[in-house]
Amino acid sequence: MDYDIKEVKSLLASPKDVVIFSHRNPDGDAVGSSLGLLHYLRSQGHSVKIVLPSDYPDFLGYLPDVSNIIIYDDETDEAREAIRTANLFFILDFNSFDRIDKVSEGLMDDKRPRIMIDHHLYPEPVADIMFSDPSFSSTCEMVYQFMDDLGHAGWVTEDVATCLYTGIVTDTGGFKYATSPRLFRIVAKLIEAGTDDYKVQDNIWNTMTEKQLRILGHCLANRMELYPEYRTGLIWLTQEDYKHFDIKRGDTEGIVNYVLRMPNMMIAAFIHEQPTIVKMSLRSKGDMDVQQICKSHFRGGGHKNASGGASFAPLSTTINKFKDLLPDYAGEIESAYLKFNQ
Ligand code: 5GP
Ligand code: MN
Repeated sequence: MDYDIKEVKSLLASPKDVVIFSHRNPDGDAVGSSLGLLHYLRSQGHSVKIVLPSDYPDFLGYLPDVSNIIIYDDETDEAREAIRTANLFFILDFNSFDRIDKVSEGLMDDKRPRIMIDHHLYPEPVADIMFSDPSFSSTCEMVYQFMDDLGHAGWVTEDVATCLYTGIVTDTGGFKYATSPRLFRIVAKLIEAGTDDYKVQDNIWNTMTEKQLRILGHCLANRMELYPEYRTGLIWLTQEDYKHFDIKRGDTEGIVNYVLRMPNMMIAAFIHEQPTIVKMSLRSKGDMDVQQICKSHFRGGGHKNASGGASFAPLSTTINKFKDLLPDYAGEIESAYLKFNQ
C-alpha cells in the first residue's frame, strides 16, 4: 500500500458530505467504481453524490442508483451546489484534471481534502491522498482493495459488488486483459457477495442495437486498412459516416478491438472525425506501448495497451501522420511480436 490509510481512516471517522468525480465519457469502470464507492460510503453514514462531466452509456442502466448521478453538462447548477457544499472529494478512474474539464474549476487550489483512486499511468498531483497503481485492472478492483485496506471487505454488499464487478468486466474486456491472481480472488469475493455474473455479463455484452451491428459491419467491410508489415490495422470513420448511420457516442465502442482478432496484429487504431476534432483510440498487445505514441504525437495518453488521443488536423492528415509514424516503431513492433509469440 503506497498511500496513507491512517489519514483516510481519520477523514472517514466522522460523517462527511462526499462528492465523487469521474471522467468525461464515463465507461463501466468510471460509473461502476463511483457507484460502488457511493454505496459503501453511504453504509458508513456519509452523504454521497456523484458528479460526472457527461452522461453515461445506456447499457449501465441496471446499476443501483445510477439515475441519481449528477451530469454536469445537463444539471450544472445542481452539480455546482453539490461541489460547493462537499467537505471531501474522491477522484476515481482519472488522474489529471483535463479529463473532467470545466468540472475541475477551482479544485486545484481548493483546500478541502481529495482522495484519488486510479489505475492510469503518470498521475498528476490532483489529490492529497493518491492511491495510484497501474498494476490494477480497473479502478473497481482498486475500490475493493481500498475497502479491504480499511478493514471493510465485509461491507461489500450485493449493490457494491454488482457495481465493482461491472467495471472489472468492462475494463478487462471480459477477463481478456490485465488479469491477475489478485483480480480473480477479488472477483470470487464479489460473486460471493451476490453478484449475478451471468446477468451482469449479459447486460454488458448483449446490448448492441441493430444500428450498432450495421456500423460494425460497415467499419469492417469498408473502413478497415491493414499494414501487415507493421502488424497494424486501422479503422476510420468520416463525418459523413456519422451522419449516414446517425452514429452517437458509444455506438463505436469496442470496434477498434476487432483488428486484434487477427493473430499477427500488434496495433489497432480507430480514427474518427468529430465536429471540431479528430479523435483516435489505439490498442496493442504484449509489450507494444501505444500510450507512448498517443502521448508523443496525439496529445493523449492512457495505458500501455489502450490509449487515446486527438488531433486538430483534418481526418486524412491525421491518418497519414499515423501511417507515417509506423516505420519509426517497426523495431518495437517486431520485438513485441516476437516476445508475445515466444
Ligand atoms: P478510448 O480509446 O477507449 O477512448 O480510451 C482508452 C484509454 O485511453 C482510456 O482509458 C483513457 O485513459 C485514455 N485516453 C483516451 N483519450 C484520451 C485523451 O485524449 N487523453 C488522455 N490523456 N488519455 C486518453
Ligand atoms: Mn478504468
